[in-house]
Amino acid sequence: MQPSYLRPTYIEVDQQAIYHNVHEEKKRLNPETALFAVVKADAYGHGLVPVARVCQEAGATGFCVATIDEALALRAAQIAAPILVLGITSPQAAPIAAAQNIALAVGDQDWLTMATPLLKAVPDCPQLKLHFATDTGMGRIGFTDVDALKAAAAFVKASAYLTLEGIFTHFATADEKDTTYFEKQVAKFKVLLNALPERPKYVHVANSATSLWHEACQCNMIRFGVAIYGLNPSGSTLAAPYELQPALSLYSELVFVKQIHVGDSVSYGATYTAKNDEWIGTIPIGYADGWLRRMSGMSVLIKGKRCPIVGRVCMDQVMVRMPEKFAVGEKVTLIGHDEDDEITLQEVADYAQTIHYEIACGLHDRIPRHYL
Ligand code: PLP
Repeated sequence: MQPSYLRPTYIEVDQQAIYHNVHEEKKRLNPETALFAVVKADAYGHGLVPVARVCQEAGATGFCVATIDEALALRAAQIAAPILVLGITSPQAAPIAAAQNIALAVGDQDWLTMATPLLKAVPDCPQLKLHFATDTGMGRIGFTDVDALKAAAAFVKASAYLTLEGIFTHFATADEKDTTYFEKQVAKFKVLLNALPERPKYVHVANSATSLWHEACQCNMIRFGVAIYGLNPSGSTLAAPYELQPALSLYSELVFVKQIHVGDSVSYGATYTAKNDEWIGTIPIGYADGWLRRMSGMSVLIKGKRCPIVGRVCMDQVMVRMPEKFAVGEKVTLIGHDEDDEITLQEVADYAQTIHYEIACGLHDRIPRHYL
């Protein structure tokens, strides 16, 4: 979607906060352990390339993305660091990945068999780097079986076109207090890892939660995602070992202000009706920006005062009830600090009955990102 630069709704990304979060994590890692910054989904809505650059400055060794297109966007921005695509990539794209030195996750033999002739067909094709995904309980992608993993390792070893750079797994419950399921996954991963005749360069299991709360599982690479952005992976369940500084704020402005009277209604369905004379402000953000319809009732901050959204959230606008007449052009904080108050992504997520990941990733491209 085209960013709306001339509309007064924008996201501010605090690069210092990103630097701080990566730097603090780096300090806790063994110096040999690589930190791959997870910048998929446009860096969780914060902006792929600017975030990647700050992460590099703060000591990230490489990057994880979800799709090959995201990896190519990093390469197009002249980012030469190692990149791993975490999702399954079409075998058709294997030659592109090899040419751009992009490593791919692979979870079965069929993929290797399909990709091989495509790589062979390209004259002087560089070897494609692979990370074996293992499914130890996430139930998403990867090898589950020792024999299949060993056969795939032997296939890669014998191939002139493929090289095994890593092996990994992903935990389903690393952000929970109860570690029973987590430990089962660790045990299963050890069995699979030990079945490999030789260890590849990178062995990695840790997302943010694992790295923050299960230090023993940092292995020699971590895939550090949501904590980069200053968000606690557990929501509010577990305390982070250092201060995570949130990087994203969302602001807008009042574009229309009016007084309504007892019995007047606001927005689609006329579901909100004024009980008194009320000041209503209109803000140019809506569900097409990722400000979900279920945010009706959630507050925004204007001059440090909480103002609830009244009536239904429209596609491009919301209306709020204000304690007094505020002027058109007054700043509105939807996420971030205003005077003594703050609305966090966590608070928004709690209100919308989801997780902060979903709110951050759902903030659409229509909202321009400004970098502090
Ligand atoms: N590793 C994999 C395989 C993932 O899918 C993700 C994110 O979904 C991450 C690492 C990063 O997780 P987090 O953002 O919780 O650190």
